[in-house]
Amino acid sequence: MGKHANNQTRNEFAQKLMARDKNKDQLGYHTRYALLKIRPGLWQLIFYLPVPVNCWLIQDKEGLTMIDAAQPWNAPDIIKIVKAIGIPLRKIIITHAHPDHAGAAAHLAAELGTKVFVHELDVPFMTGQGFMHQEQGFWLTRSVLGVGHKLGILTPPAVDSVEAVCDREVVGDLQIIHSPGHTPGSVSIWWDEQRALFCGDNIVYSFRSLRIGSPWFTLDLNRQRESIRKYVELKPNLLLSGHGSAFYGDVAGAIGRL
Ligand SMILES: [Zn+2]
Ligand SMILES: [Zn+2]
Repeated sequence: MGKHANNQTRNEFAQKLMARDKNKDQLGYHTRYALLKIRPGLWQLIFYLPVPVNCWLIQDKEGLTMIDAAQPWNAPDIIKIVKAIGIPLRKIIITHAHPDHAGAAAHLAAELGTKVFVHELDVPFMTGQGFMHQEQGFWLTRSVLGVGHKLGILTPPAVDSVEAVCDREVVGDLQIIHSPGHTPGSVSIWWDEQRALFCGDNIVYSFRSLRIGSPWFTLDLNRQRESIRKYVELKPNLLLSGHGSAFYGDVAGAIGRL
């Protein structure tokens, strides 16, 4: 009875999440995640716990590309969801090497043979050859990451091999934009055909407002703000962040008010 009630509460939460945005169709939801179709060839996959985090799935000629890879324990669900969609997962692009965005990459690469793309400056944090708390930057962020490292958490499981990318590089239909500050190798991803921008943790859209994302986990806030200003010239009409809902409309105007 208790379990049933709990599931019901979670399902109501999922429905509220989905109802927030009238532009998307629900594909399916679960106690741990929701899969939403945003546009043809674009899905939002939300894992709820411990904090809601997004993966974005894009269909191109070769198959699926996933932007970000959620937490390490989300890998089995991602494999199941990709099978349900019925299109092979060929590429994962990591916006930055934090464990809530890169966590399942190692498992997915090993099991599905998916290629993992990450900016060259975040490569060491993905392969276990470097640790972010040893970087220059905001003392609080470094302290939290340092404690997490000692406890064996807050570091993504190491990927055997990654494809290092740099600013302006093209991966399939997408362009990499180096947008550092949150981490040294944070990237945003521009999908020109859809005028859509994936911004990782640089901006979050929640409670109907755009905000600078995760300042307490950001190594260099000033650099992050400079990176966000670069978005304006792209004139996106869809902003897709690492946490929160999709933002439709005048992204450049909304960024100007941040
Ligand atoms: Zn982050
Ligand atoms: Zn995050």
